[in-house]
Amino acid sequence: MRQIAIYGKGGIGKSTISSNLSMALRERGLNVMQIGCDPKRDSTRVLTKGRFIPTVLDTYRKFHDSGKKDTDISLDDIVFRSDEGIYCVEAGGPKPGVGCAGRGVLTALQKLKNLDAFGAYKIDFAIYDVLGDVVCGGFAMPMREGFSKEIYIIISGEFMALYAANNICEAIKTFASRSKIGLGGVICNSRNVYGEREIAEEFSRRIGSKLIYFVPRDNIVQDAEINKKTVIEYAPKSNQADIYRDMARCVLENDRSDIPKPLTMEELEDLVQSYNKGL
Ligand code: ADP
Ligand code: MG
Repeated sequence: MRQIAIYGKGGIGKSTISSNLSMALRERGLNVMQIGCDPKRDSTRVLTKGRFIPTVLDTYRKFHDSGKKDTDISLDDIVFRSDEGIYCVEAGGPKPGVGCAGRGVLTALQKLKNLDAFGAYKIDFAIYDVLGDVVCGGFAMPMREGFSKEIYIIISGEFMALYAANNICEAIKTFASRSKIGLGGVICNSRNVYGEREIAEEFSRRIGSKLIYFVPRDNIVQDAEINKKTVIEYAPKSNQADIYRDMARCVLENDRSDIPKPLTMEELEDLVQSYNKGL
């Protein structure tokens, strides 16, 4: 069984990539589980045809409110099978303004482990879709506790995306020896920035990793999203659907596991600056 974690800045395209990766792997006949680890709780939305499934934290609250115990929660309460047969989980978050946003991740992963979710559903491939702007306690969970040994960072050529990626590298480096985790590679989700592929390749090389895939920007992604489907389901014959299938092949064939070397702020700024075509 393989477990990968997808990290990256908010809005960079983690959930889109995770969901299309899940679908592409499902097309290959694998048993896939996608675990949304973002309080935004929309990781699996296009897998469940637009339905927001109850989050693990919501379920805990519901059980508490009705006087039941945490131990009464079963897999059926937190794992939802999509029509295509992908197992979906959303960790969820606290009410806005109250408590730690990473708590849902902690609670969800421990519960899945205690209930042996991967064994129960014979999962071949688990994908953790994790918010990466803040790699604080909860959000570092999938890597810190070694749930996922293999981490992918989603970037674009934009400075803030690279800044977030660099911070994620710092966290991977910190937990690498203790939790035996490594960076599988970098995936660029294009924002049509000048020299983006070159920036992405250079950044990946400089942190001691590799750009394993470049996903072009395409409006069909938004069309699919509005229609509450993955691109693979919405437009199975489209170029973008084939892109995601090919990305899935690259992830399947990838066996890199690097301990990243984060850049200094100055190095990062210089890198982006050297490709900038502004005035
Ligand atoms: P995240 O999970 O990192 O917060 P999302 O996957 O929700 O990001 O994507 C943010 C937005 O970007 C969505 O509206 C999505 O449709 C859009 N998007 C993602 N990837 C692409 C792409 N390759 N081309 C065009 N739009 C994209
Ligand atoms: Mg998301």
